[in-house]
Amino acid sequence: MQKGFTPCSLTVWRGFRMRIPFDNSYAQLPAQMYTAQLPTPVEAPQLIAANADLAAILGIDPADLTTPEAAQVFAGNHIPDGAAPLAQVYAGHQFGNWNPQLGDGRAVLLGEVVGTDGIRRDLQLKGAGPTPYSRSGDGRAWLGPVMREYLVSEAMHAIGVPTTRALAAVTTGEDVYREERLPGAVIARVAQSHIRVGTFQYFASRGDMTALHALTDHVIARHYPQANGPAELLDAVIARYADLIAKWMGLGFIHGVMNTDNVSIAGETIDYGPCAFMDGFHPDSVFSAIDQFGRYAYSNQPGIGVWNMAQFATALIPLMPDRDAAVEDFTAAVHRMPALYETAWLKVFGAKLGLANPTEDDRTLITDLLDLMAKDGADFTNTFATMSRDQFINRDAFDAWAALWHLRRSDDATAIMAKANPQVIPRNHRVEEVIVAGRGGDYAPFHALLNAVTEPYTPHTDFARAPSKDEQVTRTFCGT
Ligand code: AMP
Ligand code: MG
Repeated sequence: MQKGFTPCSLTVWRGFRMRIPFDNSYAQLPAQMYTAQLPTPVEAPQLIAANADLAAILGIDPADLTTPEAAQVFAGNHIPDGAAPLAQVYAGHQFGNWNPQLGDGRAVLLGEVVGTDGIRRDLQLKGAGPTPYSRSGDGRAWLGPVMREYLVSEAMHAIGVPTTRALAAVTTGEDVYREERLPGAVIARVAQSHIRVGTFQYFASRGDMTALHALTDHVIARHYPQANGPAELLDAVIARYADLIAKWMGLGFIHGVMNTDNVSIAGETIDYGPCAFMDGFHPDSVFSAIDQFGRYAYSNQPGIGVWNMAQFATALIPLMPDRDAAVEDFTAAVHRMPALYETAWLKVFGAKLGLANPTEDDRTLITDLLDLMAKDGADFTNTFATMSRDQFINRDAFDAWAALWHLRRSDDATAIMAKANPQVIPRNHRVEEVIVAGRGGDYAPFHALLNAVTEPYTPHTDFARAPSKDEQVTRTFCGT
């Protein structure tokens, strides 16, 4: 417990107006799959952002988001009716190394909500205090990563990439220590689920067949109702993950920590730690300060995706009556992923160039452009957003390429490209600026950037600008 902390009487907050229509299913699964866990109350919660659009989808009255009570709910001080708070257990390969015991170490799942769109989603508080899975961690988050996750996840959603979302962010009025004293914060995160490849790995590695069966049935019913058994589940997850990574590649997005515990079974982007959108294009870009060997570099993401699906396949094998046959079938399924990814990639980049029906013949057109961009370090986002020779040092080379491109462009290329090429992304240096201001208690820059990145296809004179050499931020930190 933090110094100077007085436990908050929950009864003070009785008579809350905010209603969250919880409908919890994970809490019905076998008890070894989680630990019931209340958030640890914080001293002085203050709301810094709340997402009215998302609230409406969840069936929460957006008017309730602006009340002082909202900060108490999203900080975990007040547990709304119907919540069944718990911490989920999982395992995972971190940078390729097996870790048999992970779990929600600083996150508490409040419960699930079936939205007005019929989709079931988790509502989780990240930074909500220690759990049995915290290991040596404090269970807390600081404001920087909370702001980063809020901005980047909402930007990804607005761009059209499957992702967890941000419902709210609060400061806690307490400090956290990360080599220095930093303001504490909590993010209310919404996901189709927080089930990961690592969740399957945890039970498979322990031979807990009861949990592995229950988890598989739950995931099929919840995310892949058309899948008939583990083999079809594997195919479906591989297909979604291949699509997801192709979308990341099309944005110059580097996730930064593609550990198997950070791979969502629902195919959403999850865990915005040291992630980044590239400014200048270099295929080997790495931003994460802890990714020493570039395992999760931009160009390695598709291959790591296959590696992660091989781990998922391995975790499903024990479910199969004939394991030898399953090894063969599942290996074949994993080997199909590169082709699925290549097809998705061609669609993504084809659209970026205004090709309605890109064919294999168009591959070199795309890779030739990427080669020119890499040579000149051309700004990834702005090259596609403008398709202008001004983005290049060697403009003649671009002109020669563009002449070929014009022969291939579809009639409605402009319309296709407008929907495929964001004008505004949360650039690193702007995110850093916002965090610095937030540490000083000024959230206006955060809101300005959030407004711009959630209208990503609208040109923006300020936030669309690429950083100058001096402004560039080339390292990101988990700093969690
Ligand atoms: P991540 O790198 O954010 O995916 O986290 C990896 C693991 O470390 C997960 O099991 C987290 O729950 C745990 N973890 C990360 N930060 C903290 C923290 N501040 N306190 C407790 N556990 C943490
Ligand atoms: Mg994680």
